[in-house]
Amino acid sequence: MSLQNFLDLKNTVKEIFSAIEEKLGSAAKVSIIPHENPDGDAIGSALGLGQTLANKGLQVKVISANDYPGFLKWFSSDVQVMIYEKEKKAAKEWLFDSDVMICVDFNEQKRAGHLSKMIACFQKTKILIDHHPYPTDFCDYTISEPSYSSSAELVFDVISQLGYHEYINQQVAEALYTGILTDTGGFSHNTSQNTFKTVSELLNYGINTDRIQSAVFHNFSADRMKLMGYCLYEKMKVFPEYRAAVISLTKEELERFNFTPGDTEGFVNYPLSINNIVFSALFIEKENYVKASFRSKGNFPANKFSSEHFNGGGHLNAAGGESELNFKDTLEKFTQLLPEFKHLLDETVI
Ligand code: 5GP
Ligand code: MN
Repeated sequence: MSLQNFLDLKNTVKEIFSAIEEKLGSAAKVSIIPHENPDGDAIGSALGLGQTLANKGLQVKVISANDYPGFLKWFSSDVQVMIYEKEKKAAKEWLFDSDVMICVDFNEQKRAGHLSKMIACFQKTKILIDHHPYPTDFCDYTISEPSYSSSAELVFDVISQLGYHEYINQQVAEALYTGILTDTGGFSHNTSQNTFKTVSELLNYGINTDRIQSAVFHNFSADRMKLMGYCLYEKMKVFPEYRAAVISLTKEELERFNFTPGDTEGFVNYPLSINNIVFSALFIEKENYVKASFRSKGNFPANKFSSEHFNGGGHLNAAGGESELNFKDTLEKFTQLLPEFKHLLDETVI
């Protein structure tokens, strides 16, 4: 993907890169912010970019609203990830002391959770690097391109365009590879020629892809495997007439299986392996709300479903949102919405 293909909200492409170069050149401290409940792409792109800038001599910290899954904690990185929930004061101090803030892998301020207000208050340079459709205008510089498989793939091109190739090392390559690997479901969707070109370049840095595969996908607790079995056997409801399926988990059920963050990652994808199912939902009961995840096949718009009914958004085939209704009512709302979408579900070509 050439530089010209970057979608830019406010600046010309050339201006944006020279301005960012200039800002980073004169910066000492940088904060990189992934979205709340960070996934492999959010953490991978944040640490990949962070390590690149650290190798360039900048002081960088990744500041995450909350903790991230254990299967992403094997990274070797000189860049610390501060968890705002755990060290509020220090994280806030670092953030407001930074010269530049770079948001990665989200397209609207509220996706940063408890860091959203701080993003709004931050007076110095704000940069967004993201691949979700419909970016909102909350940063000074927006580098957003939905044709990319992952923010990590986009970060690699941004690093190249900035002329920072020389700062890429094995740690950077591992982080970016992990972002691409996880957001494409192990290279099974949203890939392009540029995705494989990027991966091929990352392999120049001596990364061990077998080890990463194992660390990311084969690193579950026994409890998590049992939870998965329980979900599929007891908690999955299939609606063949709507080509849809839903899985739901209460707080009590999660506790029963000693839930740790990341344990339900990927559950929402399983119903899509059922013959003729094109839309899958996962509802998880949290403290004050219900977290929703949606996945679809073909042209069924999971993001539209989410933005219209569950205060969310995301990609065409992978979206998320939340519900303020109680658990039972949330499930009922979902079921009652299916007839409204029946024509779209029926029309979906796979
Ligand atoms: P997941 O289901 O894995 O949490 O999220 C799937 C996709 O939807 C990701 O691209 C994620 O960034 C996006 N997403 C998840 N939750 C929300 C949300 O509450 N609001 C918006 N706008 N997007 C979300
Ligand atoms: Mn992503």
